[in-house]
Amino acid sequence: MPQKILRLILGDQLNSNHSWFKNLNPSVTYVLMELMQEQTYVKHHIQKILAFFGAMRQFATELKSAGHNVVYIPLDDIYNTQGLEQNIKGLVGKYKITRFEYQLPDEYRLDEQLKEICLSLNIPSSYSTTEHFLFPRDGVKIFFQGKKQYLMENFYRHVREKFHILMEGEEPLSGRWNYDAENRKKYDYKVALVAPRLYDHDLSAIKLMLDKHHVPYFGKAVEHHVVFPLSRIEALSLLDYFCNELLPYFGTYEDAMLNDNQTLFHSRLSFALNTKMLSPLEVIKKAIKTWQKSNGAISYAQIEGFVRQIIGWREFLRGIYWDQMPGYKKLNFFNHKQDLPHWYWDGDTKMNCLRQSLGNSLQNAYAHHIQRLMVIGNFSLLLGCDPMQTDTWYLGVYADAVEGVQLPNTHGMSQFADGGIIATKPYAASANYIDKMSDYCKVCVYDKKKRYGENACPFNSLYWDFFYRNQEKLQGNKRLSFVYKLLDKMKNSELQLITEQAAFIKAHVNNL
Ligand code: FAD
Ligand code: SF4
Repeated sequence: MPQKILRLILGDQLNSNHSWFKNLNPSVTYVLMELMQEQTYVKHHIQKILAFFGAMRQFATELKSAGHNVVYIPLDDIYNTQGLEQNIKGLVGKYKITRFEYQLPDEYRLDEQLKEICLSLNIPSSYSTTEHFLFPRDGVKIFFQGKKQYLMENFYRHVREKFHILMEGEEPLSGRWNYDAENRKKYDYKVALVAPRLYDHDLSAIKLMLDKHHVPYFGKAVEHHVVFPLSRIEALSLLDYFCNELLPYFGTYEDAMLNDNQTLFHSRLSFALNTKMLSPLEVIKKAIKTWQKSNGAISYAQIEGFVRQIIGWREFLRGIYWDQMPGYKKLNFFNHKQDLPHWYWDGDTKMNCLRQSLGNSLQNAYAHHIQRLMVIGNFSLLLGCDPMQTDTWYLGVYADAVEGVQLPNTHGMSQFADGGIIATKPYAASANYIDKMSDYCKVCVYDKKKRYGENACPFNSLYWDFFYRNQEKLQGNKRLSFVYKLLDKMKNSELQLITEQAAFIKAHVNNL
């Protein structure tokens, strides 16, 4: 009997350069499916669903036009069982499939499900990698074997050396590995901001279908001028746009935040990268080329800052995810249990930094790193929110949220729920940091300088309360010695007022 192969393509596996697609093979059928199971394990932002379905449909059309056999199962297909297993089994029967193949998913949940499906099929099955990341799943684990702690900087240097990126022989180009110190400026209006690149699409039919089938979602839909690229061509144009317009100032203003502007010079490439429309290596190669061609007009700190995010942080965190799952998700170092305030879901708070950062996230399914880490995540941490709830919020709200990248960022870097597996200290900050990096405090009803009393900025009392109540767990951390020295020096009467203020805030958090 001739071989008939079914190959599954998940929604975040839109890599047209994968070796699967090199040759046309009439015995292979590719399948992409829109599944209710993927819409209900967490509630997603509507723009995330629209972007994924839009990009999947586009990818299927491109494969078909290239001559591949493709089955696309839309959510409203009458034969769609809405479950991965049942759909695969249905196709195996219908097309008399003799072999099932898939690419390794970037989520533990799906990895487990696919293993089980393969065991329950009565035909052979196999998997291949997504050919996307620079390292295999266990690359980080192997690199840190026998070492006390994961350290991003060490891994990043290893990647640079191994792939000879920004190197001069054995040494880092320019003699320095790290330009973080140069890349921490507040936006100073010295260079003009540029508008984000938009893509024309009509996603209204998908939106109608979601509503007709009662797919749960939140947030505001954008059906036409979409901010996320939905095809490889669009993703490449976004990469061009980033290199030409944004890279020159990317590093300098990487940590800056601004009222009514949520991108500054950030790339918005995360959706295209996480759906694998672009590969990390091609992204940094293109950016490095642009930097080289600029003959010094783009400073070295910009390109180092960008490369660090992609081959450093992104690759590193994904490796930790695979090393630490499944137990990682359940860690709760501080035993935090508070619910997220209701305004995480509607942005309706008087705290300007949070109104801006949450409002933008809810409106655009996007926020840049410092909004995610130092405003939204910082507040959940200081308030003592249940890290699992925080994870769910992050996994749902951002269009780029795939668990292999989202979870280590949220659970580890932002909430320190892993007790320091990822971060060497909690990313906790008071109004002082937010004011240093943004213009948020200038127009806020709260007073950034006050720790207690009327209109005192909630971040301030929560900050000191956080370190005070977690003293036992944190005071041995050398990187926090400055905090505990200040706490030691603080008068008891001052500390009492602060902790009382924090208790008041926790009790009235929904009214802040
Ligand atoms: P840019 O600032 O332009 O950076 C360029 C690229 O670098 C990004 O596209 C991304 O691929 C990569 N990158 C930068 N920082 C990180 C990082 N810390 N981890 C992984 N990749 C990084 N990123 C996701 O892709 N998906 C998520 O679900 C996600 N959730 C996050 C949750 C929290 C709490 C935090 C603190 C960060 C999260 N990040 C996540 C990382 C980062 O914030 C986003 O990748 C970035 O904001 C995406 O916007 P951008 O493409 O404009 O990034
Ligand atoms: Fe945020 Fe406090 Fe600044 Fe207001 S004063 S913007 S709440 S940090």
